[in-house]
Amino acid sequence: MILKGKTALVTGSTSGIGLGIAHTLAAAGANLILNGFGDADAAISDVKRHGGKVAHHPADVADPEQIAAMSDYAQREFGGIDILVNNAGIQHVAPVEEFPAERWDAILSINLSSVFHTTRLALPGMRKRGWGRIVNIASVHGLVGSAQKSAYVAAKHGVIGLTKVVALETATTAITCNAICPGWVLTPLVQKQIDSRTSQTQGNVAQARQELLAEKQPSLDFVTPEQLGELVLFLCSQAANQVRGAAWNMDGGWTAQ
Ligand code: NAD
Repeated sequence: MILKGKTALVTGSTSGIGLGIAHTLAAAGANLILNGFGDADAAISDVKRHGGKVAHHPADVADPEQIAAMSDYAQREFGGIDILVNNAGIQHVAPVEEFPAERWDAILSINLSSVFHTTRLALPGMRKRGWGRIVNIASVHGLVGSAQKSAYVAAKHGVIGLTKVVALETATTAITCNAICPGWVLTPLVQKQIDSRTSQTQGNVAQARQELLAEKQPSLDFVTPEQLGELVLFLCSQAANQVRGAAWNMDGGWTAQ
């Protein structure tokens, strides 16, 4: 229970990777503020079974005012945020010439600007309490490019850059800021890509999943949200005090190629 008494906010934690991370942090004793769309009640009762205090805030992280309201809520109901996991993210696939400008704006707001807004609001409380952990869920696409994912790739590269800056600005404190770069994780986000492949090729889902892995991920296996949760937990531990401004791959060998 290394996180007993700490409060974690995980953006985009009603499904996928965020929910997996929330579970791991709650199992380690943290109180949790969940965020995201969809079935919040199911996510709350799922994470509550670890015994800590759990709540959900419905802020749309594309909107700085809603992020501010979530930050006020965290202060009022939980006494502030000790662990901030910036995980909410969306994606859109299209060549640059056909990429809708409003999708570009939405992806940059949700995947990158939200990280700036949550961080600037969480930092003063962390400084006051003398401890904090910020973990940004970037992607292998923060390290390498991918055709048809301009906004996503740009945003994730930006997240890694911002991570380094925040790590430097907190370097002499007990606040650390790091990024994690997952490869393929089988979540609703990736299932959507698999579904669009199978509808184009009329192939079956199992085959499309294997093709996706064979193209990029040498381990030929998906990373799991729970494995990512364990990495976040390590970054929250005493052992990781000197891990600062890093971008950790957990990608089945994707970027080793
Ligand atoms: P997901 O679609 O399963 O979950 C995304 C979560 O974000 C959901 O809870 C959703 O409600 C929430 N969300 C979306 N827009 C939001 C908004 N405007 N405000 C608040 N919440 C919002 O996706 P996932 O695969 O779990 O992705 C989580 C993060 O991991 C994303 O940042 C994604 O880029 C990153 N990532 C995913 C993979 C992968 O293979 N799945 C790989 C690398 C990085």
